[in-house]
Amino acid sequence: MKALIAGGGIAGLATGIALRDAGFEVDVFERSDELREIGAGLMIWPNGARALHALGVTINSLTLRHISICDWRGRQLVDYPIKAISERYGYEVGFVHRADLLTALAVRFGAEGLHLGADISGYEYDEAGIRLVLPDQTTVAGDLVIGADGVRSAVRRQLIGDGDPEYLGSTIWRGIATTDSIPLAAGGGVNWFGRGSEFLAFHLPNHRIYWAGVTKAPRDEEAGVGGHKADLVKHFGQWPDPVPGLIAASEAGAILRNDMYDRAPARCWSGDRVTLVGDAAHPMTPNMGQGACQALEDAVALGNSLKRATSLSMAFGLYERQRLRRANRVVAMSRQATRGIQIDNPILCVLRDTFMRALPQRLVLRTLDATLAASSAVG
Ligand SMILES: Cc1cc2nc3c(=O)[nH]c(=O)nc-3n(C[C@H](O)[C@H](O)[C@H](O)COP(=O)(O)OP(=O)(O)OC[C@H]3O[C@@H](n4cnc5c(N)ncnc54)[C@H](O)[C@@H]3O)c2cc1C
Repeated sequence: MKALIAGGGIAGLATGIALRDAGFEVDVFERSDELREIGAGLMIWPNGARALHALGVTINSLTLRHISICDWRGRQLVDYPIKAISERYGYEVGFVHRADLLTALAVRFGAEGLHLGADISGYEYDEAGIRLVLPDQTTVAGDLVIGADGVRSAVRRQLIGDGDPEYLGSTIWRGIATTDSIPLAAGGGVNWFGRGSEFLAFHLPNHRIYWAGVTKAPRDEEAGVGGHKADLVKHFGQWPDPVPGLIAASEAGAILRNDMYDRAPARCWSGDRVTLVGDAAHPMTPNMGQGACQALEDAVALGNSLKRATSLSMAFGLYERQRLRRANRVVAMSRQATRGIQIDNPILCVLRDTFMRALPQRLVLRTLDATLAASSAVG
């Protein structure tokens, strides 16, 4: 059978690998003229690492040994139980450059079956099969379509039709500092919680540090006259070391800014001969660092379901039973985490930080079980 995948991001390529391993002929259609990822880091939690292992993909990641949660004055609130996490879930917590992950997936998928500059406008189907539609109205025929085309998925629009994603009221700047002089413990990361804001910094392989700053902001707000760097200094210039140093050490033109979106969880991701994976299925805010990890889980689960089932509808049913509740729970947890960061009332901030400090480690781990523990879908 022939699978047509719309979107050649993390979800699309990972699904392409899984479906080929399940015996399918696979074509991936990516709208960009080249495979590219933005200059930022990604946290790969044990569930993401487990899925990459199942896909046979090796990545150049930096294993995290230590994460501190601090307040915006630099006082440590919690030392995150990273060692306990990797022991409990059997895989390390790592940080990878997005481009390195995409390259590793692209190498494993190979050039055959990858179509660049192919912007999919939708799909059409009848008893004979299903076809992806290109903007010039030409079609490509196959047996099933997978929408891996991200948060504004054209496939989802046609399948579910639930409108635009929802702006959560926060914006995020991201960058990479290329200096050895930043005082951040090797293999370590720090999250600073402020009033309606957050800053984080994590080591990447090759002596780089990935950082991100989050504040509340109106949707689509323009950068100030001094650009992103000046805006960051305005918001985070008084935060503890190494925050101002990281902003100063980053190339101004490479700083990214994105508004944060998600969608209310869907009750179903599939129709006749079509299903969704990754952000097309379950876009979530980045606060749990789980979007890509969930996309990798989708890929493995869909591949396994298609291998085991005797019909497409049975396979999609199996896939959704394994993935829908788990992914939707992470969407809800991520949104809750975003709301926690958006607290800007000083008294409520103190309460939030006190709660963080008082939370027993075993409760943190139990909360993470829902996301990080092995699922029957991935093994
Ligand atoms: C600030 C931020 C930080 C994050 N940090 C983490 C983290 O630490 N850990 C983690 O696991 N996740 C993280 N995520 C989430 C993660 O980035 C996403 O969940 C992941 O990239 C989703 O991959 P995807 O392939 O589903 O979608 P995308 O990455 O959006 O890829 C979709 C692809 O489809 C293509 N496409 C779109 N429309 C069409 C079309 N019509 N036709 C053809 N091609 C099309 C696009 O060009 C793109 O290549 C973060 C997200 C953000 C915004």
